[in-house]
Order: sequence, then structure tokens, then C-alpha cells
Amino acid sequence: MNCKLCHAALPNLLLETAAPENAAARDHIAACAACAHQLATLQATISLLDSWQAPEVSPYFDQKLAVRFREAQSAPSDGWFQRLRTRLLFNTGRHLRPALAGALALVLVVGGGSFGIATFQHPHPVQASAVVNDFQLLDKNEQALQQMDQLLQDDAPAADSGATSHRI
Ligand SMILES: [Zn+2]
Repeated sequence: MNCKLCHAALPNLLLETAAPENAAARDHIAACAACAHQLATLQATISLLDSWQAPEVSPYFDQKLAVRFREAQSAPSDGWFQRLRTRLLFNTGRHLRPALAGALALVLVVGGGSFGIATFQHPHPVQASAVVNDFQLLDKNEQALQQMDQLLQDDAPAADSGATSHRI
């Protein structure tokens, strides 16, 4: 056995020193000072870990956690902009890929078809007033916001929604 194989066998040797499958490693360590030192270091680390006492959990941990959950639940819900911001900050971008693909497709369609649209003359041009135009614009904005909200709500129960876990 060489030193590399012996290093790989050290954890097994540490756990089952007397096991017959560790005989080769035992023999190597008896002859190799470097590997013997490695084993001694590992043994010291393990014995140090054995003497370590894990701190006790506070007896009020569960109650405090429950209180914080209730606080988070009764807190006013974030606005859509706040949720969008959180999402953009913490997500991996996977959720936005369909939206990005849609936007790129739209750019392609608009860019590719703009020549035809630009040369197309409407037979009866609609003379909408400025107020009607404004209302139509507002309506479109409202629809976009609603769709954005819907998207965020649909994604909320997803398994990896760590960023939206405040919506318990
Ligand atoms: Zn060795």
C-alpha cells in the first residue's frame, strides 16, 4: 500500500481499527511515519469533537418562533412592486425566462412586421380624443399590473420560493 491509498483508508481505520480489511493500512502505518502522524492528527481531532458539548436550545425557542410567524402573518402584505423587487433580488432568474422569451418574441414580431404596418394605410382613421387615449393607456397598464400580480401569486407556492417565504 502506498501513502495515497493509506490516506484514503484512514477514516475506516479510525472507526474500525481492528477490522481485517484495514490490515494493509495498519501495516503501512507501522512502517510510515508520515501516515502515522496523519492518523494521530485525525484521532486528536475526533477526540476533541467527542468532548465538545452542543449548546442547549432555549426552552422558549418554539414560542418565540411562533410569535414571529404570527407577526409575519399579520403584517400588511407587500405591494406588488416590493414583491417584484424581492423576487428580482433573490431568485435565480428561472421564473423570468418565459417572460424574457415572450418579450424577445414580441420584439421579433414587432421588428419583423413593422415594415408592413408602417406602409399600411387605415381606410377610416379613428379620431380618438386625448382623454379616450389616456383611458385606454391606463386600462392597459392596469391589465399589465394584474398579470404581473397573478404571475407572482402563481409562483408563490413553488417549492423553491425561499424568497417569498414571508407569505406564510
Ligand atoms: Zn505513508
